[in-house]
Amino acid sequence: MAPAHLNAELLANQILEGNRASLARAITLIESRKPDHRKIARDLLTRLLPFTGNAHRVGITGVPGVGKSTTIDQLGTNLTAAGKKVAVLAVDPSSTRTGGSILGDKTRMEQLCGDRNAFIRPSPSAGTLGGVAARTRETMFLCEAAGYDVILVETVGIGQSETTVADMVDFFLVLMLPGAGDELQGIKKGVLEIADMIAVNKADGDGWARARKAAAQYRAALQIMTPSSPSWSPPVLTISGLANESLDKMWSQVVIHQEKLTATGELRKKRSGQQVRWMWSMLEDRMRALLHENSDVTQLLDQVEKSVEDGTMPASVAVNDVMMALLSSLQSGKQN
Ligand code: GDP
Repeated sequence: MAPAHLNAELLANQILEGNRASLARAITLIESRKPDHRKIARDLLTRLLPFTGNAHRVGITGVPGVGKSTTIDQLGTNLTAAGKKVAVLAVDPSSTRTGGSILGDKTRMEQLCGDRNAFIRPSPSAGTLGGVAARTRETMFLCEAAGYDVILVETVGIGQSETTVADMVDFFLVLMLPGAGDELQGIKKGVLEIADMIAVNKADGDGWARARKAAAQYRAALQIMTPSSPSWSPPVLTISGLANESLDKMWSQVVIHQEKLTATGELRKKRSGQQVRWMWSMLEDRMRALLHENSDVTQLLDQVEKSVEDGTMPASVAVNDVMMALLSSLQSGKQN
């Protein structure tokens, strides 16, 4: 039998009781790549699935220095003061390269890290972006089962990470800096397409007027884009995370969005669509791994790749040969 801390039934019950130590242990289990741990993790997720889905899932992005941790610290503190339980998770694309993770770091969120009703977990620090995102998504489910009402998932805008996080949450918040008037030039159109709200941060002191100006520009930019939902046009706000200005207004937009999309059935559809896309992406990752881990196939892969490169073999023939080799290797493995 598995040791007590790796017993899925016991862990599930402790998580449902809101036991923080068990939640942390379960997340470690989920982040582990050992096959026996993965098996227990799957069992745990299956047990907890009926108890998930009740939280506001909110993604937050923005360039380094925009004020993500300051804003999350303050927003989270406001929410716990209002009686909510808040979990802060992170998808740090740089952690997949450096093995270190900055986002979701407790030292960046001083108020929240001492808060009994908050739970902060930095980004899983190994694997591909897909792997990191998968672990974060599963962690989100564990937190929901543990009774967290709000899940904030922090990320930074590098490559695919914003799209990946937007596809695991209900609401995607983009923080922007007040610029000097040419801010739109540096903006990737892609991030505007996935934003459910833009908040121009640092709208305080000297920054106030510039933030208002930037907000007007973002509003104009959003107006010419087609909103992703017929019942939601992304608002643009000015806030100050540091001074706790307009964070209540910002949060009320998240709540209104949730109410609207729940009423139309879009939220349920969005979440189920996310699950199905996630299933396919995991399946494709597993299939790819199967291809690269199979020694019969890897040798052949090297050969056919060279032939395709030389122009001596059509790509379609190469694909067919590799598939046949994989299937026959799997077949003989079963018979042995
Ligand atoms: P992150 O890298 O996006 O997490 O940004 P931080 O939260 O670490 O903030 C970067 C810097 O901006 C810090 O020096 C913060 O004190 C400052 N900062 C964050 N929010 C605000 C704000 O609303 N107003 C002002 N004036 N400064 C802020």
